[in-house]
This record gives sequence, structure tokens and C-alpha cells, in this order.
Amino acid sequence: MNQQNKKKQIAILGSTGSIGTQALQVIDEHPELYEVYALTANNRVDMLIAQARRFQPEAVVIANEDKYTQLKDALADLPIKVYAGDDALCQIVESEPIDVVLTAMVGYAGLKPTMSAIKARKAIALANKETLVVAGELINKLAQQYRTPILPVDSEHSAVFQCLSGEVGNTIEKVILTASGGPFRTFTYEQLQTVTPQQALKHPNWEMGSKITIDSATMMNKGFEVIEAKWLFGVHPTQIEVVVHPQSVIHSMVQFEDSSIKAQMGLPDMRLPIQYAFSYPDRVYSTFERLDFSKCTNLTFEQPDTKRFRNLALAYEAMYRGGNMPCIVNAANEIVVDAFLKGKVSFLGMSNVIEKTMTETSFVISPTYDDYVATDKEARSIATQLINKQ
Ligand code: NDP
Ligand code: MG
Repeated sequence: MNQQNKKKQIAILGSTGSIGTQALQVIDEHPELYEVYALTANNRVDMLIAQARRFQPEAVVIANEDKYTQLKDALADLPIKVYAGDDALCQIVESEPIDVVLTAMVGYAGLKPTMSAIKARKAIALANKETLVVAGELINKLAQQYRTPILPVDSEHSAVFQCLSGEVGNTIEKVILTASGGPFRTFTYEQLQTVTPQQALKHPNWEMGSKITIDSATMMNKGFEVIEAKWLFGVHPTQIEVVVHPQSVIHSMVQFEDSSIKAQMGLPDMRLPIQYAFSYPDRVYSTFERLDFSKCTNLTFEQPDTKRFRNLALAYEAMYRGGNMPCIVNAANEIVVDAFLKGKVSFLGMSNVIEKTMTETSFVISPTYDDYVATDKEARSIATQLINKQ
């Protein structure tokens, strides 16, 4: 915040999505603390219009330029600035009054505007994990250079972040990320061969956008979160462990060198990590449902199975190989998830395409931003060809 008692000015990249709409609920609950400065979307223009009328931001941006006229006309009676296109997303986050940029866009598209926000020294509430998967090293360097805080919104990383509060200087032995295991946790390999997008879109514990819901079903989401944890918390890959915990009550844990383990718990509700990123380092009151131990009597844990969920192993491999390999995996994954949702590739076929794309795309050990852009393009093209060849 620039001044005491000033409301935090928040820009939401991807306000029409699952995280974006929940962030607006948090802001709505705390009008004395937070104000919406900018809202952005890609296609869902009607929802963006409704949000703009309700929250009266300074500006709105629609990434898809074809929707500009519709948006502009619908808000003509209000003093809201209206912009369109990818460049406008990068420019809007630089606006002087903004304190926090919530990156709630999905996929690689979040990388560039996040870089702009870091360079403009805005606190980043980071939901868009793909940014750290693709270019974690570059993002960390930029954040250091511009002294920009990155506050995790992903529930596991918010949990770790909360466990680390008050532990400055203490040695972390292990970061333990919990995973629900997704809708197919108990399925056999044979059963996985025929699962449909409709089945995969039914997550047992969380309501999320379609891309991350499929990533949760394949456990690529957990693989991405391992990479995300490496960059956020500066731990070595060998220090990051995944444990399947189907109840999603423990959101993640940290083990310290004295053997003590701290866990952060609560009912699964993304509004809490969103609110914590907004209020950090303070906590503020919420009306969210409380965990009731008379109802929650059974917390269980099991090991992840990387034979049935190969994407988790592929993400670990990409992390160990480093360079542009996680960028390759991310690009291939975005292509296969889209193809799976359209019925063009099977559930298990997704891992095959990702694995082949990893071997066929040019490897770069110390990528620059331009290398990431080229890698993303090359890997998408290879993955698309592999799907079309099947
Ligand atoms: P959704 O699909 O629900 O929402 C995505 C948002 O991004 C929408 O506002 C969408 O606009 C916008 N968007 C999509 N593509 C583009 C683009 N090319 N350019 C500009 N804007 C775009 O996703 P989620 O809210 O579920 O997830 C958002 C991010 O948060 C992801 O990175 C995900 O991994 C991460 N995350 C999500 C969690 C969750 O519970 N949902 C939990 C932890 C992390 P439009 O609506 O117009 O298409
Ligand atoms: Mg998560």
C-alpha cells in the first residue's frame, strides 16, 4: 500500500474464471480493505460487463479483440476505460495506483503480463502456476531485481507459505505437498484407458476451470505444483514430496530440521488462499465455513502412483533436466488437454504425446525469454502433429 488506510487497489487478470470470481467475492466481503482497479477476460464478455457494472473498476481489458466493440458499447454510460488485446493486458498492470495484481489467467498466456507486473513493482498474487513452470528462473530473477513480492494463491503453496511464517532462518528439510488424487485415484490402468472428459471434469473436492481440472485428473497439476514449489521456496527438487490425501483438509506441510512438521488445514475453499495473498502479512476475518472435527474424523494418506499417473513422473523429470524442459512439458500439456476435451486423444494417450514432445523439441539449458517463446511455439507444433498422426 502506498499510504496507510488506503484501500488496496487490485487488478485481476482473468476475473471471469474460477479464481477470478472467487477473488471478487473476497473483495466484496471487505469493501473497507480492497477495491477493484482493473478486470480482464478473454471471451466471456457478458460476465465481464456484469462484473464491471457491479465493481466499477477504472479499466477493463478483453484479450480477444473481436469482443472490443461489444464491451465498449455496453459500458458506454460509465467512466470505465475499455481496452482490448494482449498488449493492453501488459500495459494495464503497470497503472500507477495498482497495489496487487492477481494472476488468475490460465496457461502460458499469463507469463507476459506477469512479467510486466513484476517490472512495475506490483505485488503478485500468483494463481497462474504455468508462469513459474515455464520460466521460474527468469521470474525469480526479475522479482529479485525489482524487489517484487510473489504471494502464492495455489492452496498448497499458500499452505507452505503460512507454515513458513515466523520461520525465517530455520532450515527446511522437506516441503510436503498434498494431492487429492483426483477423480481417478482408485481407477486401475485398464479403467483409465476409457475414461471420458465428462468423468475427468468431475473433481471430488474443488470447482475449478476445465484445464486445471483435467490437470488434476492426470496429476500433471501436482507435477506443476512441485516445480512451482521449487521456485517459490528455493528448495532442491529432492526436498519436495507429494502425498495423496483424498480429503483435502491438510493443504500442505513443511518439515523442519528438528523433525517438526507444520501443516495448514481447513475446508477446501480457494477464497482463503486468495484472501491471505491480499491481506498478507495480516489475517482478516472471513465468513468461510469452519472445519468441524466432529464431522472430519478420518484423514488418510497414500503414496502417489506414477505408473498410472505418468504425468507426475514427466513433470519431475522436466524439473530435474531443467532449462526449457518444463516449458516444453507445459506447452505439450496445454495442447493435449485441449485435444482430450475435444475427444482427439485418450486420457492415457496424453502422457505419450507429452513424453514424445519432450524428446523431439530443441533443448536449451539456459533459456532467455525469447527462447521460451520459441520453445513454446515449437513444442505446441510438435504435440499437435503427434496428435494428428495418431
Ligand atoms: P478458468 O478457466 O476458470 O479461468 C481462466 C481465466 O483466464 C478466465 O477469466 C479467462 O477468460 C482468462 N483467460 C483464458 N485464456 C486467456 C488468454 N489467452 N488471455 C487472457 N485471458 C485468458 O481458470 P481457473 O480460474 O480455474 O485457473 C486460473 C489459474 O489459476 C490457472 O493457472 C490455474 O492453474 C490456477 N489455479 C486455479 C485453481 C482453482 O481452484 N481454480 C487453484 C489453484 C491454481 P474467459 O472467461 O473470458 O475465457
Ligand atoms: Mg493447488
